[in-house]
Formats: sequence, structure tokens, C-alpha cells
Amino acid sequence: MIAPADPRVLEKWPTELASLPFGSPAFKAANARLAAEDEVALAPFARAMPTWINLTSTTACNLKCFMCNQFLDPNSPKEMLDEQIYEKVVRELYPYARTMQL
Ligand code: SF4
Repeated sequence: MIAPADPRVLEKWPTELASLPFGSPAFKAANARLAAEDEVALAPFARAMPTWINLTSTTACNLKCFMCNQFLDPNSPKEMLDEQIYEKVVRELYPYARTMQL
């Protein structure tokens, strides 16, 4: 069973999220609903956690897209995401997000 990386978030969750199994499809759907409601309302604070994760796992690429700095700039850094950081992302954000884009 998965649980929040930091259990203190349980104290701050909206009731709608707290009543659902953490990380379940229903939980993710409720999180997405809250995010959409807050966006429409232009809420100053988001009740939801991120619903979409866009993660750059590496800046080392062997393709040569004409518009890309990774290709155009020979001095651009070639880095790989540290595995421990990735595991932290998985633990802390995957239970909320519906979309993961690498
Ligand atoms: S846009 Fe840049 S990083 Fe992406 S595939 Fe093309 S060369 Fe690689």
C-alpha cells in the first residue's frame, strides 16, 4: 500500500481527497477535479497537487533537431537525472498525477 511521503499532507487535504484511497484512479480524478475548479476560479492557492508531471530525465540527446539548444550549443550540459531524485518524484508526485511526460 502506498502512502504519502510526508504524512503531514493528510492534515491539509480537502475532505474529498482524504476519503479516497491514496494514489487510486478515483483519488487522481478527484485531485484533477480540484485542480480544474481552482484554475477556473483563479484561486490564489491550489488545493490540488500537480496533475501533470513534465520531467527532463536527461539533457544528453543523440538527435539533431534544428531548433534545439541541446544540438545547437556544443557547450550545453549533458546531464542525467539522479536516480534518487527520480525516486523522490515517483514517491511524492506519482500518486497524484494522471499524466507523466518525459
Ligand atoms: S528537441 Fe533536442 S533534446 Fe529533444 S530530441 Fe531533438 S535534439 Fe534531442
